[in-house]
Amino acid sequence: MNYAVIDRGDSLSKALTEKFHQLAAERGFIRNDETPEIVISIGGDGTLLQAFHTYVDQITDVAFVGIHTGHLGFYADWQADELEELVGMMANETPRIVRYPLVEIELETPTESRHYLALNEFTLKGVDGTLVVQININDEMFEMFRGDGIVISTPSGSTAYNKSLGGAIVHPSIESLQIAEIASINNRVYRTLGSSVLLPQHHHCDIISKKEQRLQLTVDHVSIMRSDIRSIRCNVSSRKVSFARYRPFPFWNRVREAFLGYDVR
Ligand code: NAP
Repeated sequence: MNYAVIDRGDSLSKALTEKFHQLAAERGFIRNDETPEIVISIGGDGTLLQAFHTYVDQITDVAFVGIHTGHLGFYADWQADELEELVGMMANETPRIVRYPLVEIELETPTESRHYLALNEFTLKGVDGTLVVQININDEMFEMFRGDGIVISTPSGSTAYNKSLGGAIVHPSIESLQIAEIASINNRVYRTLGSSVLLPQHHHCDIISKKEQRLQLTVDHVSIMRSDIRSIRCNVSSRKVSFARYRPFPFWNRVREAFLGYDVR
């Protein structure tokens, strides 16, 4: 098996990485940072986001396994003291590959068009003041948005920033994207829907800049500042991210443990 490890960079994650390499060598796994089949992320869900973006160009060829150095996470579902058990399972068992939907965006400026994939979400915010954008759904005007920002999340990202905004938690088997508002202005002059919206796989939305404005775009943990964005097309990607599951950990159990704080296993 060809594998690579990405860690958070703190002393515990680094020590676990060394231990993983040692256990993997004993089992005959091959370390291959260029074209791994399995990418092990050691740290937290944020580290898995980094691992995802490191291998985003070969996303259909890799599967991720996340080890959490703190509490169990949404992507990181193994704990530090389970390292030997995990390596043993990797050596002896065929994992179930679970695939989660991704959001794809296409950014248009007067000079270029750029594509990005997000595992959690992409956000758009005004840098110097209120964000002013028109939102079209399936090429028809839906609303004129004025406010702090817009968050477009994947189902697995629905438990992250989206949840803080009151968006719904969406099971990752539902191929969709969710549009949530950050502090929209609503009064007699300006009006937005106010609730978050879920689009199915075959729908798309466009966010069209309606004034000269500096915009901050984030793709998961990566931040990009631009003042020349004309529009952004968002849709559910035809590509998916894969996770190698060596034991079940149902999504709703993760939600319960993360937010309600108890474990019934
Ligand atoms: P960070 O600010 O260091 O961490 C954000 C927190 O979100 C961490 O506790 C992280 O878990 C958790 N998280 C990441 N993905 C998650 C998911 N799918 N479901 C539930 N929790 C999740 O930032 P970061 O580590 O670079 O991560 C970037 C993410 O932060 C963004 O994708 C966005 O979702 C989130 N964020 C949230 C807010 C908010 O809720 N108001 C604001 C900005 C950004 P770990 O501790 O396991 O890494």
